[in-house]
Order: sequence, then structure tokens, then C-alpha cells
Amino acid sequence: MNLPNQRSDCLRLGLFGGTFDPIHRGHVEVAAAVRQHFALDRICLVPAAQPPHKRTLTAAADRLAMARLAVAGRPGWEVSDVELKRQGPSYTIDTVAHFQRQGPAGTRLFFLLGTDAFLEFNTWKAYNALVKEVALIVLARGGCDEPSTAALILRIERFMARHFPAGYRWDTAFGAFVHPDSHPVYLFDGPRIAISASEIRQRLAGGQDVRQWLDPAVIDYIEREGLYR
Ligand code: ATP
Repeated sequence: MNLPNQRSDCLRLGLFGGTFDPIHRGHVEVAAAVRQHFALDRICLVPAAQPPHKRTLTAAADRLAMARLAVAGRPGWEVSDVELKRQGPSYTIDTVAHFQRQGPAGTRLFFLLGTDAFLEFNTWKAYNALVKEVALIVLARGGCDEPSTAALILRIERFMARHFPAGYRWDTAFGAFVHPDSHPVYLFDGPRIAISASEIRQRLAGGQDVRQWLDPAVIDYIEREGLYR
């Protein structure tokens, strides 16, 4: 097994799914830190068209457009419209299958998700099959409940003991739960950025300043299209 940031000659692609309603600094800065730490060649944001777990306030096309604006000019970053092109709920297992078909042979896929999303992972379609296809990178989030890294490891461990196949064990050197027959589940406790899209939506609705959380081009788009009023 390679260490998280050990280079190899295959393409290392990080997939970052979400509603991005709207995309904010928490998404982009944490993903940038992940890219560096794991030596990912590319980061691909995948806005969900019909997220199975969340309601969205804005159309998928707007969320896609905002994501594109937020990462414009960043080499190695892209935004995929694959979930907008599919009918029905946007299941990650289908998206991963798409990237496996598309990528050059030997592409290594990593899927980024926050701890909040990971702790509901058992509700995702075919999650047991998904962990056999991709390495997960679980992102520590900032906010009012800021557990220590050790406490996060314990939470994740308890969750995995209930919902994952037996055989995972925490490996400090890898910073991951490793398994003899499955991909690692990494914990990335990098920059903790205490912001969520729901908080930004609330602020926008209340006419409060959101400039510190959003890319200026995203703010322009929101104003131009009259979103979140
Ligand atoms: P909402 O407040 O509407 O629930 P959100 O801010 O969590 O939205 P999503 O688009 O749902 O944004 O998030 C996409 C992914 O990014 C999820 O896995 C989520 O856990 C993660 N994420 C969102 N914000 C942060 C953050 N500040 N730090 C780390 N991960 C984050």
C-alpha cells in the first residue's frame, strides 16, 4: 500500500461531490489542502443534480455554474456535469462508475466528504460496494462542535464498527483506517474552516455580508441571478 502522498505513475483523481448550494471557501480551501497532502493530480467537483439526502434552494445548473466560477483559473481543477446529465437521484456509486470508465487505466480514485456526511454514509446507496471502489478522505470540519483529532478517530471508528465490514484498523502512519482487502478510509484533519452553505444561505437571506466566505465571482453570480433572497 502506498503512503497517502506517495507518488506513483497512475493518475490520482480526487472526486468531491456535494450540493454546493452555494460553493464556499470551506469546500475550496479544504480540497486544495487535500490535493497537496495526497499529491492528487486532479480535483473534480461533482455537483449533485438530485441529491438523495438534501433539498436544494437553487437549480443544479446554477450550482454547477457557481462551482465553475469558484475554481476557474486553478490548474488541475475541474467541475463535472455528469450528475446533471443523469436522470433520477444522484447516487455517488453511479458517478464513481462513470469516472472508472472514463479515466485512463490504473486511475486511482479518492472521494472527499466531510465528517457529517461520512457519519451518514450507511444511508448512501451501495455504500459497501463504494468503499471497495474508492479510497475515502473524510474531512474534519470546523464549527461549534470541534472534536480533537483523537475524538474524531474514535467517532469514525465506532461508526465503522457498526456499518463497515470487519477488519479495518486505524494506522497512524497512514492517517487512515486500513483493511487487507479494501481501500483505506483516510481522516484529513487539515484546515478546519467553520462555515456551511446553510449558514451562508441564511446570511444572504438576511442581507448580511458573506464576502469572506465566497469567491467574488460567485457573489456576482448570486446577485445577478437573484439567488437566496
Ligand atoms: P449545507 O450547509 O447546505 O448542508 P455544506 O456546507 O455541508 O452544505 P455541501 O455541498 O453539502 O455543503 O458539502 C459537500 C461536501 O463538503 C460534504 O461532504 C460536506 O461535509 C463537505 N463540507 C462542506 N463544508 C465543509 C467545510 N467547511 N469543511 C470541510 N468539509 C466541508
